[in-house]
Amino acid sequence: MTINAITMKTLFSLIALAAFVITPWHAQAQDPIAKLDVAQLGPFEHHNVPGGIVIIPLGINANELEPSVEWNERAIATLASAEEWFAILGVPLNTEAGTHYINIRTGDKLRRLGFEVIDTSYEEQRITLKNNSKVNPAPLDMKRINAESARLGKVKRMRTKTLNAYEFIWPVEGPISSTFGLRRFFNDQPRRPHGGIDIAMPTGTPIVAPADGTIIDTGEYFFNGNSVFIEHGLGVQTFYAHMHSISVSIGDEVKQGDEIGTVGETGRVTGAHLHWSLGLNGTWVDPTLVLADD
Ligand SMILES: [Zn+2]
Repeated sequence: MTINAITMKTLFSLIALAAFVITPWHAQAQDPIAKLDVAQLGPFEHHNVPGGIVIIPLGINANELEPSVEWNERAIATLASAEEWFAILGVPLNTEAGTHYINIRTGDKLRRLGFEVIDTSYEEQRITLKNNSKVNPAPLDMKRINAESARLGKVKRMRTKTLNAYEFIWPVEGPISSTFGLRRFFNDQPRRPHGGIDIAMPTGTPIVAPADGTIIDTGEYFFNGNSVFIEHGLGVQTFYAHMHSISVSIGDEVKQGDEIGTVGETGRVTGAHLHWSLGLNGTWVDPTLVLADD
């Protein structure tokens, strides 16, 4: 290939790229529908903040083929009401406020659709741990932590095809000792924000599956202690940490209300509690957004 041919090729790809960037349909998503049909669209509550859930009407008739939706290279769950398709996405806690775009593919058509994320502020939480090795782990522990985080990354990408969870209940009822999203400092050192809810109950308190699903991981992790992951369909997942005992195995199908283990104080903790997380497209969101309002 001559230099000229390469230059022309580069030029053409630049034009193609520019065309892609400029021409896609830039319409803003409509206002979210206040009352979703839970029977069709699941229990998700629209709350477009970092750590929240965004429900986007896609303007695609429910009779049409299921669109595939992607945001930041992650597959996004789609569900159809009687009328049209919707995307249900989890917004990571570190997302900047402003307009973001999803990619929607239907057949060989690709378009972008914008949605807004508004700012919110989460409180600060300072925790003192006597066991400093859980704050600044030793090199050998770091090796274990890195291996565990690779494994958890894989688990968080697993998804089954259909949603099995149209209603969620609390896995344990008890006082909330830490809410979702707290900006955390362990022994005065900044660490990841709190990706779940802590429910303080004594060791041995039964934990139940909040909705139907499949057990996709169990294990004993450095920070999370004894843990369980449930996939509820379409990448909607729940996660349980610091458990005392685990009574399910990978591959088990669970029904809402089935016991999966008990509350404990394993891993990085200051006392017995259940850490409960909700995952959507591999990101932690506020679990209260799938619980019915009291
Ligand atoms: Zn927690």
